[in-house]
Formats: sequence, C-alpha cells, structure tokens
Amino acid sequence: CGIVGAVGSRNITPILVEGLKRLEYRGYDSCGVAVLRQGQVLRARSTSRVAELQTQVANDGLESPLGIAHTRWATHGAPAVHNAHPHFSHGPGADAANTRPGRVALVHNGIIENYEALRAELQAKGYEFHSQTDTEVIAHLVEHLYDGDLFAAVKAATLRLTGAYAIAVFCADEPQRVVGARQGSPLVLGVGGADQTERFLASDAMALAGVTDQIVYLEEGDVIDLQPGRHWIEHRAPGSQEHQRVLDAERP
Ligand code: GLU
Repeated sequence: CGIVGAVGSRNITPILVEGLKRLEYRGYDSCGVAVLRQGQVLRARSTSRVAELQTQVANDGLESPLGIAHTRWATHGAPAVHNAHPHFSHGPGADAANTRPGRVALVHNGIIENYEALRAELQAKGYEFHSQTDTEVIAHLVEHLYDGDLFAAVKAATLRLTGAYAIAVFCADEPQRVVGARQGSPLVLGVGGADQTERFLASDAMALAGVTDQIVYLEEGDVIDLQPGRHWIEHRAPGSQEHQRVLDAERP
C-alpha cells in the first residue's frame, strides 16, 4: 500500500514514521519499519496504528541513518504481524523460530503473480518462509542473487518477477545503500537534507511533504540506487533483459 525509504547521515527514523503517517489516509491493515543500526537489521511491526509503531520504534531505539517503512493492504496472507512488512531474508538454512538476524530487508507494494513457483524454487534451495505473503519471495530472491552488489541483485531479481511491484530494500552488508524498483506500482525519488545529501523513496510524493519538494517520478522498469550524496537510475524496457542508465532530466 505505502512505502517510505531513506538514506542520509542523521537519524532518519522520524522521517520514515512521519511518512507513514502521511500515507495513513489511504488505509492499511498493518505497518512496519526496518533500519540498520551498527550492522544489525532491526524491525518493528504492528497491526495497529502508525502511532503504536512509533511507540515501539522509540522503545526499541530504532535510530539509524538508513531504513525502509511500509503500510500494508494485504493481498496474500492475513493481516497479522508475521505478514507485515518489512520482510527479511537471512539466507538459506533452518530458523524455525525466526530469530536469526535478517541480512536483506524489503518492503513491497503490489502483487507478485509467480510467487508460488518462486517460493517452491527458493524452498528447494533451503530458504525458510515465515509469512504467507507473495512479498517474502522477493526478499529471498534478492538474497539468493546477492554477490556483494545490492543494485545488481535487485536488477537481476526484477528479471524473475511477474506482476506489479514497487519495492525498497537494503542489505546489512552495504550499510549506506537503499535500492528501489518499480513495475506497475508508483515510486518517487526525493532529494533533500540541509546539504542535499539525503535520498528518499516513497510510493507517493505526499509522504515526503515537509522533507523535500525535489521529487523525481520513476517510471515502469526503473531501478534506483540511493546512497548519501548520490543516486543512480537505470531502466529496462518491456521485454528487454538489459538495463540502461537514466538521467534525472529524462524523468518528468
Ligand atoms: N501483496 C503484498 C502483501 O500482501 C503487498 C500488499 C500491499 O501493497 O500493501 O503483503
């Protein structure tokens, strides 16, 4: 339903929570946030209001220069905390209690149509699933394709997905990077901060009102790399397997 992501050098968690609040009017059944703090992926999720999530975030000390957040409108899997985003992948291997720390954290808007085939494929490789969502396959797929470059892993993952998605994802191995992609669901880039080094992602520019009005609207087939002080967009045309670089000026 709603996505917010941010990377900067100050604590951006309040921006993520405020962004979710600005998206609340769209409706949702659950919400969540994940951040990277000293190499650890931390998460809070709630089936209540964003205000309740905000209390968890404060109590758990989820402060970080990098994170992603989501309001969910369930399509696959009941509204429940274990189905709320962000979803994690910690790689293949048993973890029945779901207590191993996440390596990849991901939020998603939309519907992955081929998730059952992907889930069977990833389960055969040893990935354990902890939700009934279509979304969790993307987290495991990105982890599976990850070889030290999250942008490359997300581009490769998009070649395997059919359906509609806007995603925001980060990996514990790359603590200054958030990657986004869109196909069939909206996603915008925001550039801001006192020194213009902060980068934001959102499903709707309204989520970033008060943070920045420098917005770049992404197009279907775009994949974006966000780091403090820089961003990089690549685009894949329908039917193509290749991504090409895009300049901001080529976007409305
Ligand atoms: N299909 C995903 C789910 O059910 C995402 C739904 C949404 O767009 O919020 O979790």
